[in-house]
Amino acid sequence: MRLILIGPPGCGKGTQAKLLAKRKTLEHIGTGDLLREAIRNQTNVGQRAKPFVESGHLVPDDLVNDLIKERFEKNDRPQNFLLDGYPRTLAQAKALDKVLEKVGLPLTSVVLFEVADDEIVKRVTGRWSCPKIGCKATFHIFNNPPRVNGLCDDCHTQLVQRADDQVETVKARLVVYHNDTVPLIPYYKEKSLLHEVNGSGEIEQVYSNIAKSLNIHGVC
Ligand code: AMP
Repeated sequence: MRLILIGPPGCGKGTQAKLLAKRKTLEHIGTGDLLREAIRNQTNVGQRAKPFVESGHLVPDDLVNDLIKERFEKNDRPQNFLLDGYPRTLAQAKALDKVLEKVGLPLTSVVLFEVADDEIVKRVTGRWSCPKIGCKATFHIFNNPPRVNGLCDDCHTQLVQRADDQVETVKARLVVYHNDTVPLIPYYKEKSLLHEVNGSGEIEQVYSNIAKSLNIHGVC
């Protein structure tokens, strides 16, 4: 299985990507995670990406295209994989097609998460995490609040919000999604790869929506 997950920021695709990868034995390639790791490690890529990621804008296409190309040029390239957060522009989608064609691994499906913008703002701005190295507990003010407001349940450190989860940044990320990523929908529809899935609801409910749409219920 070779999948792409598309959806607005904070629609839950990262959570579903982890579940799908584990249950269906797919390599999970998340460009947001790769970029955040590069920023933490202060690599060249990280230094270039930092201002874009923190302001909620897309990093330049060539930067993420190179990250993906490098992964598929390696001899241990995955045969079954799930791309989470890539491609996000038509230029990236076309670059990906070329990379996958070269290695003979065409996409099998594209999953589109449908979640309304106002629900996205509520979900994303409610996310808080513990910054302490080695803790990394996460909370949500509506769904999973900490016992003491603003403090980590595990180590009592002051919780922080990801820079790109702040309300103005989330709204900017939604504008970017509608302008740059939504054009991928007709692109993949035309290739008969698109599966539109309701992304609202409990984690297992959304997983079940995806599994039904891809016809992979209970299949390992
Ligand atoms: P995510 O965790 O997928 O929401 O990504 C976090 C941030 O990383 C985005 O807001 C962008 O700044 C950057 N990013 C991740 N994937 C891409 C991509 N495919 N193209 C451009 N920027 C990206």
